[in-house]
Amino acid sequence: MNKVTKVNIWDLDGTVINSFHRVQPCLCPSTGNLDLQKYLREACKHELVMGDTLLPLVETMKRCFDSADTVNVIVTARTMAKSDYVFLRQNGLRGRNGQNVRVMSRDTLAKYFPHDEVRAIYSSSDANYKRRYFELLQAQYPGAQFTVYDDHKGVLRVASEMGFNVLDAQMVNDILSVGMSLIGEAIIDEHMAEDLDIDYLKAKLDFAWQCMTDEERAEYTATTSPAKVLAA
Ligand SMILES: [Mg+2]
Repeated sequence: MNKVTKVNIWDLDGTVINSFHRVQPCLCPSTGNLDLQKYLREACKHELVMGDTLLPLVETMKRCFDSADTVNVIVTARTMAKSDYVFLRQNGLRGRNGQNVRVMSRDTLAKYFPHDEVRAIYSSSDANYKRRYFELLQAQYPGAQFTVYDDHKGVLRVASEMGFNVLDAQMVNDILSVGMSLIGEAIIDEHMAEDLDIDYLKAKLDFAWQCMTDEERAEYTATTSPAKVLAA
């Protein structure tokens, strides 16, 4: 077995899956945390889950599956049910036979943490909940390079504090969407080297960035630039 040198941690909602139509009403307006009760009650119906679509960053995620020295882990605020797994499988994000991605969700906490801690972790904020999984993975793969792909600012802050690379998925997806709508994804791909994961994404992002108008770029430079996002 190859030694693991990279660990990629993937969020689902707002990072690789566009579930805005059903999840957004369940997010706390001030913190962005998922209201789990409301989510389970209203957002998890099979036909709603199947109505989700993919975000541009999913292409980078799929490329990462091919790398033998990389472990990919989905760490999601969701409690995962059958429909969630069906969607992942139908979209090539989780195969049946040991595909290179694991899933850590609120309903799998009991597999990884002591019984008396599970309830507290389950009901903690998204950032504190994910921190526990991050710490677990950090202990499991000492010395590996960690990259967290997430659209939750609090989660990104926690990951950054832990010394992980962080990638603001909301911003990257926005920029990639603009770049693609301007020139078409196929044309972008012609300009890209076949490198995996972060190098591939950086090149693609730089290219999309160059294709944007000054006005479009101005929306992002107020906060940070893509180079800064990826250099973190
Ligand atoms: Mg998210």
